[in-house]
Amino acid sequence: MAKKPLLEFTESGIYCARGKFYIDPWKPVDDAVITHAHADHAYLGHKRYLAHYLSKEVLRYRLGEIQLQTVEYGESVIKNGVSISLYPAGHVVGSAQIRVEYQGEIWVVSGDYKLENDGVSTAFEPVKCHHFISECTFGMPVYTWKPQVQVFEDINNWWRANIHHGLATVLVGYSLGKAQRILQNLDLFNGKVYTHGVIENTNEALRRNGVSLNPTERITVDSPKEEVRKGIILAPPSSVGTPWMRKFQPYSFGYCSGWMAIRGAKRRRAADRGFVLSDHADWNGLISAIDATGCESVYLTHGYTATFSRYLNEIGFDAHEVHTLYGGEEEENPASLPQEERELENQVEDINNALSVEENLGGVS
Ligand SMILES: [Zn+2]
Ligand SMILES: [Zn+2]
Repeated sequence: MAKKPLLEFTESGIYCARGKFYIDPWKPVDDAVITHAHADHAYLGHKRYLAHYLSKEVLRYRLGEIQLQTVEYGESVIKNGVSISLYPAGHVVGSAQIRVEYQGEIWVVSGDYKLENDGVSTAFEPVKCHHFISECTFGMPVYTWKPQVQVFEDINNWWRANIHHGLATVLVGYSLGKAQRILQNLDLFNGKVYTHGVIENTNEALRRNGVSLNPTERITVDSPKEEVRKGIILAPPSSVGTPWMRKFQPYSFGYCSGWMAIRGAKRRRAADRGFVLSDHADWNGLISAIDATGCESVYLTHGYTATFSRYLNEIGFDAHEVHTLYGGEEEENPASLPQEERELENQVEDINNALSVEENLGGVS
């Protein structure tokens, strides 16, 4: 009889029957291990939570008074004989890959991750395992990131040019992760950093957690508008097009997101500038991260799972698509823009064509 795998995919989430716990479950359970505090991974309603200690205050801010046990990276917790330990995922502050081990069998659940060190989140570490459960949000070759130093040079230059032209600068990025990454990489000689309340609440939670961030000033009804217009305004996606944002006119409005790599994304969000900056691994990053685990099999939870798993199988991995509820993260998803979808379909076709060429040549170079 075949041995039951250590982790399985259930209607409530990724489940370890032996250890009686779930990882990032979306239905209420007794024991939840949480990779990070984004809404599609950390749900309300579980009896007990286990997460990295740098997620503590943000989880409390978002979920209220929860029963939460926290650990350091590398520290292990035993549940019903199964060993659980957390490793840096490099996605946002406190984000972790979850390593699960029982009788020599090792699984790793990536949560969301990126490979480039952003200077705020603890840098990603590959973890050896037999089975790797990975996201693939940007699992298409069109998604190739430039080093962040280049992106921040563009952002800092744009900010300086706006000051020169008497325009306010509004930069949009989601509140946990992107906002802090931007904050820590801005050239503060240009001016002060002002924040929307949603972002400042997250900053405050992180500071309570001992994370040191550059100074910011929360925008309130009393904030002197002309002063704010001289600085840079960090705003969440939900503020785009609202009266709150319009009161800083005239401004230039920039949008930071991996989706900006797709033509049409900037236009759709009515942004003046699109900065391709993502807290997820790009196409090459995903492949190298998966390769570095040395895994026998890989399970893809969210993103372009169909295309990406097909590609991985073609280059010799044992890859599987699984259905989860991850990916509805932080107002960021491209959802369905006809134009973008058409472009992506072309991409899929390109990949499939490339693969059949390789097949005809009798292998992969
Ligand atoms: Zn996330
Ligand atoms: Zn996610």
